[in-house]
Amino acid sequence: MNVLVVVVDALRTDRVGAYDGRRVTPTIDELAAAGTVFERAYSTTNATDPALTSLQTGRFPRTHGVLNHGSHVTDEEKRAIEGVTSLPMVLEERGYDTAAFGRPLGRWHRRGFDRYPELSSAHWRLKSLEKSASSLLYGIHPAIGDTLSRTYNALTDRTGSDDEDSVVAEFTDFLDESERFYSLVHLMDTHTPYDVDDELVERYLDTDEYENRPLSALAEEFPTGSITANSLTPGGVVNQDNERWADHEAGVGTALARAQYDAAATEADRTIEGLLEALEDRDLLEETLVVVLADHGESLGEHEIYFEHHGLYEPTTRIPLVVRPPESDAGVERSSELVSITDIAPTILDALDIPDEQAFDADGQSLRPLLEGESDDWERRESLLLEEANTQRFRGVRTDRWKYLRAVEDDPTCRYCERPHGASEQLYDLEADPEETENLAEKRSDTLATLRDELDDLLARYDPQTGPSDDTDGDSVEYDDEEEVLDRLESLGYR
Ligand SMILES: [Zn+2]
Repeated sequence: MNVLVVVVDALRTDRVGAYDGRRVTPTIDELAAAGTVFERAYSTTNATDPALTSLQTGRFPRTHGVLNHGSHVTDEEKRAIEGVTSLPMVLEERGYDTAAFGRPLGRWHRRGFDRYPELSSAHWRLKSLEKSASSLLYGIHPAIGDTLSRTYNALTDRTGSDDEDSVVAEFTDFLDESERFYSLVHLMDTHTPYDVDDELVERYLDTDEYENRPLSALAEEFPTGSITANSLTPGGVVNQDNERWADHEAGVGTALARAQYDAAATEADRTIEGLLEALEDRDLLEETLVVVLADHGESLGEHEIYFEHHGLYEPTTRIPLVVRPPESDAGVERSSELVSITDIAPTILDALDIPDEQAFDADGQSLRPLLEGESDDWERRESLLLEEANTQRFRGVRTDRWKYLRAVEDDPTCRYCERPHGASEQLYDLEADPEETENLAEKRSDTLATLRDELDDLLARYDPQTGPSDDTDGDSVEYDDEEEVLDRLESLGYR
């Protein structure tokens, strides 16, 4: 049996038709119809580095060691993760061809892969140079800055579809060379800045149900937000001076950016279609376990977070998860159990009949009983731990009904937004208030007390002391591709 895992970075659950009926992801929906849709799947956190590490190790950030993201990952965290076995390492050792495609994040994520994409530092350096030059010229005269952007984009021809073609082509070549494989495809379409087909955007624009806030107004309110920083500068996708959109009745605003997000979901879906076709053409689909999920979600305005993944709210931590076992007619269609991104690695080991006690010390548990409709064999979870350090230090618990969030530090200010996203303690009744609008921390003191205890129990259960050693004065750790990856993350709006 083979395994294909597709991570669609920052893909929201409600953009997948199998969850919300929206028709922007036909391929994922079709895959879902032949497999299992997990209605309540959660990431461990809100940023790619720690979430992807959870996917590959089956552990929470506390126990795999990496809670920070990008340039904020400490030497201590890098030393910790070096001591933790990952899924590709186990599979490579057992003779699987292990390959990553798309835009994964290198460094420790690379461990165990025979084949990994070139992170092409030249492209990202050039892109960031072009961005600063355009901004400078834009200040002198908008038309000059705009011309440089257009020329650069035409010369380098970096459109979503080119990426899509190359990911599918590389995956196809790999299939032709491979005996049995584990493959991880990381797609960035739904992460800002959106690089999408204008016609697709136009098609989705009318269906948008949200209010349209002008991006120029948002830029004043949130000057460092990635949608405003990436989109309102020359060369950004949503350019104020872009004639195509300037005349549009909706104007250049959040409605347009949301339509771009939807278009990006469709572009990711088309890449997945190409990957599945490559498997089908080689009669490999029936021998391959296919998993499609997100590393975290995205806030499209909820909690006044625009096109970012800050905090531990539902839009950011709940993720789409679709699993199609090789024998696709087996299994249930939908599961409403609380499941976690930490369950994926144990599920894959289980599906490949590799006993986890031989290979892995995961926090998650195999989803196999749920995939096979044997829910009696599934150890039901009462709660899931959430934790973040990328935008603010917060921890939280998701139970069947409730969400409880607690600041770790006295000052809960978001590092990016320079204001707090909510009180230091927040309690939401997700049954009555799925959008987490009313903080019940003061009204429901009994529930609050129970969930405080539950959070403390989870923190004790996933004790870092049982994970990698937290030795604070070892050597600094450097990866060959670190500079390239950090450049790339900067171009995506991280700082
Ligand atoms: Zn924020």
